[in-house]
Amino acid sequence: IIDIGQPEHSVVTTCAYCGVGCAFKAEMRGDEVVRMVPYKDGKANRGHSCVKGRFAWGYTNHGDRILNPMIRERISDPWREVSWDEAIGRVASEFKRIQGAYGRGAIGGITSSRCTNEETFLVQKLVRAGFGNNNVDTCARVCHSPTGYGLKTTFGTSAGTQDFDSVEHTDVVVVIGANPTDGHPVFASRMKKRLRDGAKLIVVDPRRIDLVRMPHVEADYHLALKPGTNVAVLDAMAHVIVTEGLFDEAFVRERCDWDEFQEWAAFVADPRNSPEEVETVCGVPAETIRGAARLYATGGNAAIYYGLGVTEHSQGSTTVMAVANLAMATGNIGRPGVGVNPLRGQNNVQGACDMGSFPHELPGYRHISEDATRTIFESLWGAPLDREPGLRIPNMLDAAVEGSFRGLYIQGEDILQSDPNTHHVAAGLAAMECVVVQDLFLNETANYAHVFLPGSTFLEKDGTFTNAERRIQPVRKVMESRSGMEDWQITMAIANAMGFPMTYDHPSEIMDEVAALTPSFAGVSFDKLDRLGSIQWPCDEAAPEGTPVMHIDGFVRGKGRFVITEYIPTDERTGPRFPLLLTTGRILSQYNVGAQTRRTANAAWHQEDRLEIHPHDAEQRGIVEGDWVKLASRTGETTLRATLTERVAPGVVYTTFHHPDTQANVVTTEFSDWATNCPEYKVTAVQVAPSNGP
Ligand code: SF4
Repeated sequence: IIDIGQPEHSVVTTCAYCGVGCAFKAEMRGDEVVRMVPYKDGKANRGHSCVKGRFAWGYTNHGDRILNPMIRERISDPWREVSWDEAIGRVASEFKRIQGAYGRGAIGGITSSRCTNEETFLVQKLVRAGFGNNNVDTCARVCHSPTGYGLKTTFGTSAGTQDFDSVEHTDVVVVIGANPTDGHPVFASRMKKRLRDGAKLIVVDPRRIDLVRMPHVEADYHLALKPGTNVAVLDAMAHVIVTEGLFDEAFVRERCDWDEFQEWAAFVADPRNSPEEVETVCGVPAETIRGAARLYATGGNAAIYYGLGVTEHSQGSTTVMAVANLAMATGNIGRPGVGVNPLRGQNNVQGACDMGSFPHELPGYRHISEDATRTIFESLWGAPLDREPGLRIPNMLDAAVEGSFRGLYIQGEDILQSDPNTHHVAAGLAAMECVVVQDLFLNETANYAHVFLPGSTFLEKDGTFTNAERRIQPVRKVMESRSGMEDWQITMAIANAMGFPMTYDHPSEIMDEVAALTPSFAGVSFDKLDRLGSIQWPCDEAAPEGTPVMHIDGFVRGKGRFVITEYIPTDERTGPRFPLLLTTGRILSQYNVGAQTRRTANAAWHQEDRLEIHPHDAEQRGIVEGDWVKLASRTGETTLRATLTERVAPGVVYTTFHHPDTQANVVTTEFSDWATNCPEYKVTAVQVAPSNGP
């Protein structure tokens, strides 16, 4: 038993891990956190939490934290600690030198979905108004950028349609490419309760996730499709709904473009989209597809929850639109219990996208080429904005290798470990003349950095996160920043040093600026957040306390838009050298690349990254439980231990990506979503062979 002592006071704040956004009371003694207690009034979690939020905050005081700025001339040199003034001065002078030598577009910035809305807003403002280009991107590029494209195209805005409470009104829960019990455990508990109370369940996933079969919960249909065939399966479900007359004609006529619906209906009704034809492509029995489609269309309120198993594909955006098509065709939009709900992986993916951190969009999902919108920003910011979209992360790396991109400011992301094709990322970083990493630890990307700026944890800052249900929640400072500068102050200092003035005294002033520039945030302020606890955007005159369910009277874009979603097989093909398909995911106790969870008490729960392989495939290769195996693809190879399991079908293997020693992304492919460049993490042709270990 550990005596943690009695707390003296507490501060309510928001978990910085996943997109559920659980509220916690940080109980303090002096300036030490003694424990995190799930906050019973938290609207997203109602007093519940998982092991990450409850216990995995100790990284704040971990000895690996870097607390002083550091610089070096070359990446082969040792780091040298310097003052904040010298570090910021170095960043500004190097970025100005690069722009002088190579042009305005030779530098850019990357912000993170781990950061607050206010921090992200400032980074994109620095890039657009301070750097004078639109080379700003976010780690949502590698997770939910297809959600941005797909839901904007079909519904008119990039956001989940429902609040979490909505699941209590759902009769049919559909989970596609998500593993809520590991990835979004507190919301998964509410989902499981609804399932135990009688709701039906359809799971579309190559792997038998826990929800498929667990005590008192069993999926009515599990569509264990071959990785990469989501669109074929969703089109086949649409085929059943259209050809059997199960669509909601009244809803479609009133709420959607009827002509587009008819074109789409003719497309999905084509025999090539029938379950019998699609079975040969995806491996799911036709009768299972038919049964799932009928249940979705006729089972009452049906809600789709999806994750990165939908987006991280070469047809990620197409898949999101195929999901939206199903919801519109069956009238499952615009009331509690239905909808299309992306489960956001990181705490602030929704917010990072809302804040305009994509190279083509200003805050509030307005395209940079819209002259009227740009004029509003230009007049408030006092700087001209470029009307051309900037470079995405993969384009920045390509341009660096080619020689036209030379400087990068990275706030809170480890692109070397988290982005695909590690060797290409390393080549891009190595080609740059000034890489600035702002983070808590010397991450893998920092191996290529010239300036390191120590960041602050969520316990050391004020601001807001926006969770998967569009809920803007307060992040409140529990202790002073250990590095002496909060992240928003660092960005502001760089802007000022580069000659673009920023003069905020507190993040609340940044949110006031967001509200002034972004119609869907017009009614948001820190004062209102203090009063209400949280606000779901849109929040404006029409909805001064926020909007739990969207598209009730009409879609944001007016009429809902049906898009023809032709299935196009990925270019990543299996063959004699690489006969298996690898897909990836995560476990409950770890978080993404593990930079934080591995440095906390959660280490007690730590499981190494393992390769799940079907016993049949393992036997063919002479592999037994626990053996070391070599996992090789066209882009690289790594070594890890094998777990034999029928969770994966023959021909499919699966691993997690939490540990830097494993570096699963060494093997992932170069292919990406056609619309957004979101990497195709979920489909890699691989070979697995016995190994002696690393
Ligand atoms: Fe809640 Fe997610 Fe944090 Fe767990 S990781 S406590 S589910 S926000």
